[in-house]
Amino acid sequence: MSKKHILNYTKDELENIVSPKFRAKQLINWLYQKKVTNFGDMKNLPKDTREMLDKNFTILSSKIVSKQISSDGSIKYLFKLHDNHTVEAVLLQMKPTIYNEDGSIKHLAKYTVCVSSQVGCKVGCAFCLTAKGGFIRDLSAGEIVEQILQIYIDNNLESNRRVNIVYMGMGEPLDNLDNLAKAVKIFSELDGLSISPHRQTVSTSGLSSKIDKLAKMDLGINLAISLHAVDDDLRQKLMPINKAYNIASIMDAVRRFPVNLRKKVMFEYLVIKDVNDDLASAKKLVKLLNGIQAKVNLIFFNPYEDSQFQRPRVEDVKKFQEYLLSKGVICTIRESKGLDISAACGQLREQNINGVGQWQF
Ligand code: SF4
Repeated sequence: MSKKHILNYTKDELENIVSPKFRAKQLINWLYQKKVTNFGDMKNLPKDTREMLDKNFTILSSKIVSKQISSDGSIKYLFKLHDNHTVEAVLLQMKPTIYNEDGSIKHLAKYTVCVSSQVGCKVGCAFCLTAKGGFIRDLSAGEIVEQILQIYIDNNLESNRRVNIVYMGMGEPLDNLDNLAKAVKIFSELDGLSISPHRQTVSTSGLSSKIDKLAKMDLGINLAISLHAVDDDLRQKLMPINKAYNIASIMDAVRRFPVNLRKKVMFEYLVIKDVNDDLASAKKLVKLLNGIQAKVNLIFFNPYEDSQFQRPRVEDVKKFQEYLLSKGVICTIRESKGLDISAACGQLREQNINGVGQWQF
């Protein structure tokens, strides 16, 4: 790609690309609020600026190559990048739009977008399809930003819609920390999409040293830990990264992480049948979380073809939750949104590579 990607730049950087400085604000407005994808249409920029931008920069560097729509309103996207690699992002509809009797809107639908941070992943979790393809490369900040922008455009979402972002798609976001931090900043630009860092959550497999680094950056972002197991032996089997960063080191890093008083650190716990769904695990989890402003999210394992793990029984997940609640730990069971479209990360990409699944172009 000879042209540079304009979504890769923060407002400060754009001020060095267009002049005078207020042109950067206008450019951001065209890109993220009006969502114009052609520099020539940016009418209040001088002609020579538009030509300079067109000659040197591209706006969209990826293409939506497939899209699956779930019965619950979630939409899973597969993007083809400029070098033909593919990544996924999912628009999760957390609440549908509610209408008044007269047809007017009572509440607009609430969305969370799950974005990818890398092509592939180095972490190698045993339950993850992305891991099977290995690691290919980091995404640039612009490629992370573009997933959201494309989803806004595809769904005609207005710029002032309250959308939450979770960095929980393909890849380990803290393994691509600088680009992640830049994307957080670009998303939060007031003249752009204005998605506050408080509405952005980075979900990590627990790279403790990088959690400390993220804490020092003081981005104001929320933290989620993919814990999934309460003892090192099992966690090591599920997540080999645990050899380098064991549970104790993760918990120490979490205790050092600055958490907004009104917020909590989210612990993701993928419940797998007969692996980690027992009461003894629930008890250990309560002990581990002692002294942490925590919230636990229990997620049903979403089996894929040939997966070695199975979906847990509903009653076991409920018992697990009840125990945590009885000990004062906030615990939710995450609905398996997009279950019918295989929403677990890596599944759409894998289906595309192997030529299975149904596509809507
Ligand atoms: S679950 Fe996340 S961290 Fe683990 S291998 Fe998959 S993409 Fe990487």
